Amino acid sequence: MNDRYSRQTLFQPIGEKGQKKISSKHVLIVGAGALGTGAAENLVRAGIGKLTILDRDYVEWSNLQRQQLYTEKDADTRLPKAVAARQRLQEVNSETVIDARVVDATPLELEPLLDGVDVIMDATDNFDIRMIINDLSQKHDIPWIYGACVGSYGISYTILPGESPCLHCLMDQVPLGGLTCDTAGIISPAVQMVTAHQTVEAMKLLVEDWDAVRKKLVSFDLWTNQHSSIGVSSVKKDDCPSCGREASYPFLSYDQQMKTAVLCGRDSVQIRPAAKQEWDLTVLAETLSGQDGKVDQNPYLLSFTTGDKRMVFFKDGRALIHGTQDTAEAKTLYHRYTG
Ligand SMILES: [Zn+2]
Repeated sequence: MNDRYSRQTLFQPIGEKGQKKISSKHVLIVGAGALGTGAAENLVRAGIGKLTILDRDYVEWSNLQRQQLYTEKDADTRLPKAVAARQRLQEVNSETVIDARVVDATPLELEPLLDGVDVIMDATDNFDIRMIINDLSQKHDIPWIYGACVGSYGISYTILPGESPCLHCLMDQVPLGGLTCDTAGIISPAVQMVTAHQTVEAMKLLVEDWDAVRKKLVSFDLWTNQHSSIGVSSVKKDDCPSCGREASYPFLSYDQQMKTAVLCGRDSVQIRPAAKQEWDLTVLAETLSGQDGKVDQNPYLLSFTTGDKRMVFFKDGRALIHGTQDTAEAKTLYHRYTG
């Protein structure tokens, strides 16, 4: 037995007992961008027993400024974030069991992953997914930790099902929205501050120190030196569709339609097919090699550049169309090149 956790077990609220608990627990991190890589590294270094992390995207050069697990090589080879994150995390701590998935965070993908999960961490960049996480947390009685940042601003809030008001309760009452990453940019200290808030809350939950869990919504702006902590317990609604007495979990119902999504700050559209399907990337590469464009491939995705557009096809049937924010145009391109 080495002493890798000696400084953490010396910290009295954790101790040897808490360390044992941490090593027996399972955290799900939704998203492997700035917040996700930060939280994942913190938890893996802290000795979490199992980590499940999922992300739908691949590493790009513009990520390296703040997404702390990734390297230039990952960006050059367009490695999916979940794959690159797992590699690095496993180098940091070989004892943690890591389940990494290159998928979109839909209810269909997320729900089967919840078995045995003790805490869910939000590391997404959009509210649609947060509302799905919120409903799943309520339905399966798993605490989750909301986190978001933009510019030099950040916000975090811990939601205990059956106790705290959920994100749905808060939505109309507290200014959570309006944060968009494409206009304001982001500096990494804001990311790290949110990550610190989220990780310490996760650690409290993992060692079952319930009294220490933060009840308030915390927000800050590191550049303008502002900090606030808002009590929100009064906004819990009895008739909330997500956490109320007759909860219907509205964000878990999905239809079998092809879904398009304009990605945050990326001049890109994601297309997800109606039914779950798998690309055979080798076959797709052959089809596309007859077209006017350039094909690049790694074991996880295929990139096809034609004119000022680049299309990236993932094994799980999704495609990212770069160079447009027009969903109709993206759909046309998708159909043209995939038949
Ligand atoms: Zn609620």
